[in-house]
Amino acid sequence: MATFLCHDCNLSFEDNQKIKKEYRDYIFGPCWKYIAHCPQCKGECSEKPEPKPVKAKQEIPAGCGTDACRGPSCSMLQ
Ligand SMILES: [Zn+2]
Repeated sequence: MATFLCHDCNLSFEDNQKIKKEYRDYIFGPCWKYIAHCPQCKGECSEKPEPKPVKAKQEIPAGCGTDACRGPSCSMLQ
């Protein structure tokens, strides 16, 4: 059983159809992957990627990146 994700419906579902689809990747050349059909929209879905460990977000001082922040201490301007 594999988990698939439909980007159109934002729906993840389990499926064991194991439909093998061959495709040509513009970097890696001929490839294949398993696809499944969304139970809602019947669209073609790819396997859901394994969740990756969330990296700690860089702390951005509040106000930076906005027109309000033009101060000399703003780290975004250094
Ligand atoms: Zn769908």
